[in-house]
Amino acid sequence: MRTIGALEAGGTKMVLGIFSQQGEELARQSLPTLSPEETVPAMRDFFAKHRIDALGVGSFGPLDLDPASETYGNITSTPKLKWRDYPLLKALVGDSGMPRAIDTDVNAAVLAEAERGAARGLTDAVYITVGTGIGGGVLSGGNLVHGMLHPELGHILLRPHPDDINPKGVCPYHDGCLEGLASGPAIGARVQGDARELPDDHPAFAIEAFYLAQMCVNLILTISPQRIILGGGVMERGALFPMIRKQTQELLGGYVQSPAVLTGIDKLIVPPALFPVSGLIGAYLLGKRALLQS
Ligand code: ZN
Repeated sequence: MRTIGALEAGGTKMVLGIFSQQGEELARQSLPTLSPEETVPAMRDFFAKHRIDALGVGSFGPLDLDPASETYGNITSTPKLKWRDYPLLKALVGDSGMPRAIDTDVNAAVLAEAERGAARGLTDAVYITVGTGIGGGVLSGGNLVHGMLHPELGHILLRPHPDDINPKGVCPYHDGCLEGLASGPAIGARVQGDARELPDDHPAFAIEAFYLAQMCVNLILTISPQRIILGGGVMERGALFPMIRKQTQELLGGYVQSPAVLTGIDKLIVPPALFPVSGLIGAYLLGKRALLQS
């Protein structure tokens, strides 16, 4: 039996899986994300022990995803300094010739949700994770979008909420970007404490919904997705969903005359079906593709 290794590389933990070619999960391990010198040998050992035939990786980024590039598969300008310019894919598979593929963690997640989750059977979908940071993966016309680099939806610019006491946000790069205004740390800075302990009707969540609705509006108006999947720790507060949907409709102002927006928005903006393993399953699917193409 041929087996596929999958890695969801995150800023706080690495989730490693072993799958059969058909997608049955055979093993899983989690490791804290320390330095490459500490973490990568343990990951290599895990995959070597299971004698994988291909490897798929969904990773935090930014990443070099140009297969023609010398630095294909490298993590590039990440603020996680120990991993900056780190050749992640090469470090895991070396020159072994093993079929391998890498994409962003959120592109992996949208792929998984489109193949077997909340966007099953659709060709155009977006997966946004709202947690310590914010990232988005885009499937357009059935293809994962890379383009010049890859989408960095977490840093689109938004207009401030009139009641926001911190309208510049917490991103070190930008004033008023999505991640700076709506990530977990942004909410924490706004309420000056742990937002998880606050009730659903706390004003901070109306502000949060306003920002995430602006993001949905911009996505609807630019890439016209059939599904917008909102995952990540912040979205575990399910009460945000109806607030975001309502605000999205209001901000669109009736301009987009599609039943998906006007009456079907409950099915347009949804939680993931595969959380918390969308990224891991997506990594497996990337590895499977690489194996089939080899
Ligand atoms: Zn930013």
